[in-house]
This record gives sequence, structure tokens and C-alpha cells, in this order.
Amino acid sequence: MNRAALHKIGYGMYIVTSGQNGKFNGQIANAVIQATSRPASVAICISKDNYTHELISASRKFVITILTEAAPMTFIGLFGFKSGRDLDKLEDVKTKPGVTGLPIIVDHSAGFIEAELAGQLDCGSHTIFLGNVVEADVLSDAEPMTYLYYKNVKGGKAPKTAPTFDADAAAKPKAPSPSARYVCSVCGYVYDPAQGDPQNGVAPGTSFEDIPDSWTCPVCGVDKTKFEVEK
Ligand code: FE
Repeated sequence: MNRAALHKIGYGMYIVTSGQNGKFNGQIANAVIQATSRPASVAICISKDNYTHELISASRKFVITILTEAAPMTFIGLFGFKSGRDLDKLEDVKTKPGVTGLPIIVDHSAGFIEAELAGQLDCGSHTIFLGNVVEADVLSDAEPMTYLYYKNVKGGKAPKTAPTFDADAAAKPKAPSPSARYVCSVCGYVYDPAQGDPQNGVAPGTSFEDIPDSWTCPVCGVDKTKFEVEK
């Protein structure tokens, strides 16, 4: 089997939000599809390890937020690499109430889809949730972010709980070089010397070694010692 064929499948970048009784959470999801048109339904694939899985099972409703290309890595890191069991991810995020009672994320959103659970399929590590669409709207004309854009342009990686996580590629060794890319061992953010981190004062062309020790991961905030050469 050539697993490389699986990497040719296209995905998007979404936040799936769920919860009830004042307790809500959101997480990044890339496996989101419209399943049927009449009635309009959507399907999402969520890891059983994730807090959002628990919340969807309990509340039987969820919201899909379609991220724009401009969504910063720190925003993606908040929803993709931190657990809602430890912090309130929505605390500093702009939301509006939806018809399902769920908070709808407004920041960096091209649009949203609210759904009520219609069925689910146990897939082992993940569950595919099917939801009937009860409300949806476009919030911005900005280009939606694809998974390829996140990976190639923004330098992002898949966390271990993503359906697209590639354990073989993550374990492959590679020799370091002056232009080596470094990966944050906590969140998977990749520092690419060619791109630098201009938003945080690191000019393109700066090798990882030359970044000041005061610099921290732009996604999860850990210091340089938590980075390793990309494998
Ligand atoms: Fe990080």
C-alpha cells in the first residue's frame, strides 16, 4: 500500500465547537464534508481523545467554523494544540449565540454551519458525526483556508489526534543543516529559516541558532529548548 496516495486527499481548516450548560469548547478539524443536500447535512471526523468528542456526544449538536487564510497560527494553535479540559479556549474569542444555543466563533471566520446530531459511526480512534444543518451563514468574503495552505504557506503540522497525522513520517530521521527547519515538540509548529518569524521580530533568513533565546513558539509559547530538528 502506498500511503502517499492518502496525502493527496484535500482538506480544509475548521473549528468544531460544541457543549452545553455554559460549558463549551472548540477544536481544529480538517475532515469536514457536506454529506447530503436535501436535507442539508454535514459529516465531521473527531478523535475520541478530544474533549469536543465528549461534548458532541452529550449535547448532540455542533457548529463548524470555516477559517479564513488570514487566521493567525496562534489562533489555530489555541484550538489545535491545547485541550479545553485545561482552559476556556473561547474566553478571549469573539462569538455570537447560535439557534442551537452554541457560541458561534466570529473571529477569522468565513462562515459557520450549525448542526444537530443525526447519526454517528464508530471508526475506532475516531467517530464520524453526521449532523443536520439547522442554520448557516457567510461571515466574510475572505478566502477559506485549505489544509494545504496551512501546511505549505503557514508551516503548520497535524497533531497526533488528527485523522491525517502521519506517524511514519514523524519518526523518519534527517540530518541537521544550517538551513534546517525546527519543529516545536509541544505543538508541531515548524520554524523555517527561509521564512523566519517576522511577526515576532525574526527576519527571513535567520537560522534557528541565531534566534534570540527570548523568542518563544508563536503557536504555543514554549521556549527554544523545546524545539528539535525537523525529522
Ligand atoms: Fe509550539
